Amino acid sequence: MDIPRIFNITESAHRIHNPITPEKLATLGAALRLESGARVLDLGSGSGEMLCTWARDHGVSGTGIDLSQLFTEQAKRRAEELGVADQVKFIHGDAAGYVSDEKFDVAACVGATWIGGGVAGTIELLARSLRTGGIILIGEPYWRQLPPTETVAKGCEGSSISDFLRLPELLAFFGRLGYDVVEMVLADQDGWDRYEAAKWLTMRRWLEANPDDEFAKDVRTKLTSEPERYAAYTREYLGWGVFALMAR
Ligand code: SAH
Repeated sequence: MDIPRIFNITESAHRIHNPITPEKLATLGAALRLESGARVLDLGSGSGEMLCTWARDHGVSGTGIDLSQLFTEQAKRRAEELGVADQVKFIHGDAAGYVSDEKFDVAACVGATWIGGGVAGTIELLARSLRTGGIILIGEPYWRQLPPTETVAKGCEGSSISDFLRLPELLAFFGRLGYDVVEMVLADQDGWDRYEAAKWLTMRRWLEANPDDEFAKDVRTKLTSEPERYAAYTREYLGWGVFALMAR
C-alpha cells in the first residue's frame, strides 16, 4: 500500500509537498490563533511539517495519516528532530474514509482532496472528525488565470479546466457548502518554485545514484521536460491556497 513510486522519488527531499513555504505555513499557524493543547487531525500529512512545526510553535498535538511509507517515516523523524514526538503521531495508511472517534479542534487536508473525492467530499469527511465549532483546513489549487484552452489546462499536470475554480468562485463554493471562510494563506509563484524546482535537483541526484533502475528512463524524460512545462503552464495558471472554514 503506497502512492505511485514517482512521487516517492521526486519528492523524497521535500519537507513540504505543496507550494506553501515554511514561512507561509508558520503564518497560517499563527493566523489560526491555535491554543496550546489544541488537537489537529491531518489527512495526507506528507512528511509532517505542518503538525511538527505547529506542535513546536503553538503546543498543539495531533495525528497525521499518509499513504506514503517514506513520507510517514520522514514525518516521524522530523517529530523526533523538533522534540515533539510525544505530541504528534503519524500513521502510514489510506485516509480515504478515515473518521476518528475523537473530535478534533482542527481537521485538515492540505493538497490531497482526492482523498474524499474532491473538495466537497473531503470537507464532509473532515467534518465527521471535528468538534462543533472547530476549524477545517483545505489546501487546494485554483486557477490564477483561467486557461484559454483545454490544452493549456492539460499542461498543468494533466488538469482540465473544470478541475478547478477561480479564487472568488472557490470561496463562494465553500459558502454554498455551508461554511464561512475565516482565514486563508495563498501560495505565490516563489512558493511554486520551491515545490516544483526542488524536484529537479532531487531527480538529477536520483538519476546519478540509480542509473540502472527501471524507472531511470521515466525520471530522465521528466527532468528534461519539467522546467519548461512548469514555467509555461503551472507557474502561470495555477494558484494554490489553504482555506480555513467554520460551519455556519
Ligand atoms: N499535506 C502534506 C502533503 C501534501 S501532498 C503537505 O502539505 O506537505 C499529498 C499527500 O497525500 C502525499 O503525502 C501523499 O502520500 C498523500 N496521499 C495520497 N493519497 C492518499 C490517501 N489515499 N490517504 C492518505 N494519504 C494520501
